Amino acid sequence: MSERKQLLICTHNRGKLKEIKAILAGLPVDLLTLDDIPDLPDPVEDGDTFLANAQIKVRSAYAHAGLPCLGDDSGLVVPLLDGAPGIYSARYGGSQSEVREERDQVNRDKLRAEIAKKGSFPCDAYFQCTMVLCLGEGEEHAFEGQAHGQIIDEERGDGGFGYDPLFFIPEHEQTYAELSSETKNQLSHRGRALQALKAWLSEHPEVFS
Ligand code: IMP
Repeated sequence: MSERKQLLICTHNRGKLKEIKAILAGLPVDLLTLDDIPDLPDPVEDGDTFLANAQIKVRSAYAHAGLPCLGDDSGLVVPLLDGAPGIYSARYGGSQSEVREERDQVNRDKLRAEIAKKGSFPCDAYFQCTMVLCLGEGEEHAFEGQAHGQIIDEERGDGGFGYDPLFFIPEHEQTYAELSSETKNQLSHRGRALQALKAWLSEHPEVFS
């Protein structure tokens, strides 16, 4: 019997990891995380697009681990704010805290303040996710997902992470932080990018066989 292949999920973000693992659970591949690979370098994500940053993550991980790698870059785009926070979503508020929840809170507070300066609530926004599957050097496949909603002026719900408590989905009358994880995984930007990845893999079963 042939050994199952491995796929390294390149993220330190526990919220993202949980979502990615849940969505990819049925694939015929063993999912590894960065915790499984000692001394993995943490590359500087200085690309100027979501795609460039996702490529930086997977290329660095592949060069070190030599395994198929999956990485994403994602963020919130607010057209009223000329696309901010965009690729700077993780560090928008400028907090240096070691604690992710504290950084997220500062980011959300800044987002509300910037919207309040320029416009009113609710304010149209979307999340963007670009996933890159790296199967070898120069052998990369990119998948995209978007989810549209609105930024509201109060935090609602305590699930998820990041901007979730402010991101309201009118069709569900709930924020990302209020949705069940199953529902968020179905309609989220990351869920959509991962569904595109799964559809591609079902057309290319040789990749993990
Ligand atoms: P990355 O880890 O460099 O891709 O940064 C992504 C950042 O975008 C996160 O730190 C969050 O601030 C934000 N973000 C991405 N996806 C989500 C989501 O599903 N919910 C809330 N915030 C998100």
